[in-house]
Amino acid sequence: MKILVINCGSSSLKYQLLDMENEDVLAQGLVERIGLENGRLKHETPEFGKKVIEDNMSDHRVALKHVLDSLINEEYGAIKSLKEIDAVGHRVVHAGEKFAESVIISEEVKDALKECIELAPLHNPPNIMGIEAIEELLPGVVNVGVFDTAFHQTMPKEAFIYPLPYEYYEKYGVRRYGFHGTSHRYVVQKAAEMMGKDIKDLKLISCHLGNGASVAAVKGGKSVATSMGFTPLEGLVMGTRTGDIDPAIVTFIMNKENLTPQEMDNIMNKKSGVLGISGVSSDFRDIEDAAAEGNERAQLALDTFDLRVKKYIAAYAAVMGGVDGIIFTAGLGENSADNRKSIMSGMEFMGAKIDIEANKVRAVAKFINTEDSKVKIMIIPTNEELMIARDTKELV
Ligand code: AMP
Repeated sequence: MKILVINCGSSSLKYQLLDMENEDVLAQGLVERIGLENGRLKHETPEFGKKVIEDNMSDHRVALKHVLDSLINEEYGAIKSLKEIDAVGHRVVHAGEKFAESVIISEEVKDALKECIELAPLHNPPNIMGIEAIEELLPGVVNVGVFDTAFHQTMPKEAFIYPLPYEYYEKYGVRRYGFHGTSHRYVVQKAAEMMGKDIKDLKLISCHLGNGASVAAVKGGKSVATSMGFTPLEGLVMGTRTGDIDPAIVTFIMNKENLTPQEMDNIMNKKSGVLGISGVSSDFRDIEDAAAEGNERAQLALDTFDLRVKKYIAAYAAVMGGVDGIIFTAGLGENSADNRKSIMSGMEFMGAKIDIEANKVRAVAKFINTEDSKVKIMIIPTNEELMIARDTKELV
């Protein structure tokens, strides 16, 4: 069975074609600058290597047509005919409270996702465009929706309700939804495999530390708490996002700087986080370099980031009444040994001891705890595409 996985952003889209026989990636790529001039498709197969196609990609349909043409191209393609694609899995960011699992896309499902546009105005519209484009380009092929929010639908009410007037939850759906669900679900399954235990018997804390970052507490395979909230702005300090701040700061700064709600929203989403503190960059590599050269604000940004991850780990151990494994994943979590070391320092009190030598690796699935550590500490490279493909396979 061959499955195409599609992840549509507002001006870009990522794809992977997988052979589910042994979960091999047959082709993968990225289209950038959709809707802008000078669009670009970077396509890659294990046999041919990399191919770049430059053309105007006026919308997601045109971009996906280029992707499909590349997949069947005689020289650099991966399959002979589009008929070989058995199903398409789509990443969709927000499914509100409607879906707790991946589903086959129908007209009703699309309507439900359109109702969630208000909750994810930047993400759901391109996700839906991707689905509709594939329906047109590959008629008759089953489409499956895999939702970032779905995994966290198991949170108990006290973990998702906000202490606001209850009517805002009822009228507007204001509650914690949580994000990165597909990534958290993938790494906790992998962690259980690595630990040789049934996931039902495990208490795990998954730290997805990338440009966007979130922590999830996963008990018995179910998400019971997560740091992102109503939107992906809450929780950890991120590349450009504030994460948790005193909500009173919002109106205070708006008044002082005479800002509109949109301007304030932009500052909290795009100009804050480690970029805001350091003034250097939103990219942790740049910040680590600057800190190493003695830039104090860069060091402060890293320390602030690490402190908050540490707080969430300890809090989530308390939420679950203990922890068996702590997982580091995503760009920073997989790659930055310094960052993992700093987060785990002082965590010995809860039985989690990092092995400094074992930690000096990047992007491999590996235990990095000492022999006598009661809590396992793991690096697990995330693979959201594979998770989407597995769900799609199961549903078709
Ligand atoms: P992601 O959003 O998962 O793609 O992660 C992106 C973040 O990971 C960026 O801030 C990168 O700087 C960070 N990152 C990637 N590789 C490294 C590395 N070797 N050291 C530190 N940070 C890294």
